[in-house]
Amino acid sequence: MTIRNLIIVLGDQLSLDNAALKSGDLACDQILMVEALEEATYVRHHKKKIAFIFSAMRHFCEALRAEGWKVHYVCLDDDDNRGSFRGEVSRAVDDLQPERVRVMEAGEWRVRTDMEDWHKALGCPVDILEDQRFICSHDRFRNWAKDRKQFRMEYFYREMRKTTGLLMVEGKPAGGKWNYDSENRKPADADLFMPRPNQTEPDQITSDVLELVASRFGDHFGDLTPFWFAVTAEEADAALDSFIQDALPRFGDFQDAMLEQEPFLYHSILALYINVGLLDPLKVCQRVEAAYHSGHAPLNAAEGFIRQVIGWREYVRGIYWLKMPEYRDMNSLKASRSLPEFYWTGETDMACMRAAIGQTKTEAYAHHIQRLMVTGNFALLAGIDPKEVHEWYLAVYADAFEWVELPNTLGMSQYADGGILGSKPYAASGAYINRMSNHCEACTYNVKTKYGEGACPFNSLYWDFLARNLETLKDNPRMRQMYANWERMSDDKRAAYRRSAAEVLDAL
Ligand SMILES: Cc1cc2nc3c(=O)[nH]c(=O)nc-3n(C[C@H](O)[C@H](O)[C@H](O)COP(=O)(O)OP(=O)(O)OC[C@H]3O[C@@H](n4cnc5c(N)ncnc54)[C@H](O)[C@@H]3O)c2cc1C
Ligand code: SF4
Repeated sequence: MTIRNLIIVLGDQLSLDNAALKSGDLACDQILMVEALEEATYVRHHKKKIAFIFSAMRHFCEALRAEGWKVHYVCLDDDDNRGSFRGEVSRAVDDLQPERVRVMEAGEWRVRTDMEDWHKALGCPVDILEDQRFICSHDRFRNWAKDRKQFRMEYFYREMRKTTGLLMVEGKPAGGKWNYDSENRKPADADLFMPRPNQTEPDQITSDVLELVASRFGDHFGDLTPFWFAVTAEEADAALDSFIQDALPRFGDFQDAMLEQEPFLYHSILALYINVGLLDPLKVCQRVEAAYHSGHAPLNAAEGFIRQVIGWREYVRGIYWLKMPEYRDMNSLKASRSLPEFYWTGETDMACMRAAIGQTKTEAYAHHIQRLMVTGNFALLAGIDPKEVHEWYLAVYADAFEWVELPNTLGMSQYADGGILGSKPYAASGAYINRMSNHCEACTYNVKTKYGEGACPFNSLYWDFLARNLETLKDNPRMRQMYANWERMSDDKRAAYRRSAAEVLDAL
């Protein structure tokens, strides 16, 4: 029988709401899924991330077959696997001779652009459908951005609240305010009853994938086991249930906190599931909203969470598609230093960095403030080449996909986009880390020592960063106070900061 559509399902499109699947017909369409070596190695992804995606793909294939779909699933180690989407789609088209190929747009610019001329190589029409798992379409974001001199997430977020109706009461924000962020900056205390993310026991499919990843990607960064990520929609739903039950009520209060030996605190560990399609972002937010309405979670927690998902997540995607491909190469602060080796080993005397990188190695996870204010802040202050920083973040986190990772890294964290995404660099000295964590108590360095012997490296690097980038940043209204403080310092003090920073940088 002639195949009408060959439907391609990519590894981050594992949802029955996938537009290509929704428009398909079991009777005359077939599906192709491919484990592509090129995708696992174009940056050397964390072993756990590769295992998560391959296992989730294999489970989704089973779910599709159970629904009656005919799925051609190409495993990484299949003899004929050509190693790339393009190669495998072309092999399948030669073998199956479908009338058309149908695929939902890729999330990443590189793959999306490649898809656009598949039809030439395949010799058959290719329909690329819009990804409807987002609240804000490409057109809508372009329209929102069109006449604005400056983009600011907060205004975009308010529109998303109105569109979704989340936490809205008769057209007004619940509680009278749009944003409760000022309540969400409390340091946390160690708590014996700290919630733990829901852990899933690997089944046979996952165990096979773990073996494959160990043998083929053994030299990639990170620990492969213990592996406890959810790999099906049902398991991801269980992870959502446990987050709402155990952690959501305190998510807001301790959103920015960090603690030694506590990699997850009250965070959800859901981004990886949302990003590959195992959870639907809007439904997740509706569940969180319901927890607020039932009295289970306070408003600052529910609003804080919902803002991250319908605000930041949608906003960074909008910026990515608006500004690519130029965005990838931006480097407004002309940072050029190589990424220090300890980003790969975690071997450093800086306790905050050791904790963030250490858990990144073991869990393929660090929470937002660790990414932004510890590893990101250090790279910003030290003037690390933003491309290397971007490739590190893209490789090491299980939830990292370029459309969300790149704007967060290059824009929010490294200010390499010159302020397109955020209004000022997230640069901070050791005092911030000390306020929000207990890492400094476990550190070789002294956070109170400003420069010289034993001083916290973040302190001298902070002032050196301001001094190095004076011409670029001094007119930014949000940096005026910092520069005024720098100007007030004596020449000797400024020289001492800069000498100390030079020693830190030389030792990298
Ligand atoms: C340098 C840097 C790189 C990052 N790279 C990624 C990435 O590759 N993939 C990714 O999903 N997020 C990324 N983020 C954003 C954020 O750090 C992660 O989404 C979050 O830490 C994931 O953990 P969680 O699921 O426990 O999130 P929670 O803290 O529980 O937050 C809830 C949800 O909100 C969403 N969210 C929160 N902050 C952001 C944000 N800034 N942008 C987009 N979505 C957000 C996520 O879907 C997350 O699951 C990055 C942030 C920084 C500073
Ligand atoms: S003293 Fe400095 S380097 Fe050490 S943990 Fe504190 S902030 Fe990090």
